[in-house]
Amino acid sequence: MTDLTALCVYCGSSQGVKPSHRDAAAELGRLAAQRGVRIVFGGGRVGLMGILADAALAAGGEVIGVIPEHLQSAEVGHNGLTRLEVVESMHVRKMRMCALADAFCTLPGGLGTLDETFEIITWRQLGLHDKPITLLNLEGFWDPLLTLIRHQTGAGYVRPQHQGLFQVVERVGAVFEAVAAAPEAQRPSAVERM
Ligand code: AMP
Repeated sequence: MTDLTALCVYCGSSQGVKPSHRDAAAELGRLAAQRGVRIVFGGGRVGLMGILADAALAAGGEVIGVIPEHLQSAEVGHNGLTRLEVVESMHVRKMRMCALADAFCTLPGGLGTLDETFEIITWRQLGLHDKPITLLNLEGFWDPLLTLIRHQTGAGYVRPQHQGLFQVVERVGAVFEAVAAAPEAQRPSAVERM
């Protein structure tokens, strides 16, 4: 059973076209705040990222952003966060976000969201951390990705057991249930030492 104090959320720096995705980002922020779970995210105030952060803050939650210098202006770093860490590079950002969280969740997003999600999954595959990862498959948004991973597995490039590196849930509330049900990390995290 994993005790959740800080949840790292990966999601779009765009809002997307579906209001339901914005609602889900806000609901996740609110639920995290209500549960006393700190949000760790990329630090921007745009897109689903901003909606998530604003909702968590409005509900009295703590939100830590980690943003690289060169994105401070492009993604418009959020000024109202509990803490905004400005770091030197994307790589440092990803390591820092990993170190600060004890579980990860992916909402709908674009290429950056995919990159962050696959990095955290493959770090787990490599044994660099053993923290739970949840993909929020809102209205089947990630179905094409899941199909691709099954295709890769069938073709012999993804080991069947590696499909268990992340859990897929359909509802925002189920993110917390999935993390609570996840076994305690079996290995010490090496990411903090990278
Ligand atoms: P996106 O899903 O493309 O809207 O991006 C969501 C988040 O991913 C933002 O915080 C971006 O800064 C970040 N991001 C964008 N591109 C990359 C990348 N190549 N590697 C890591 N993170 C990225």
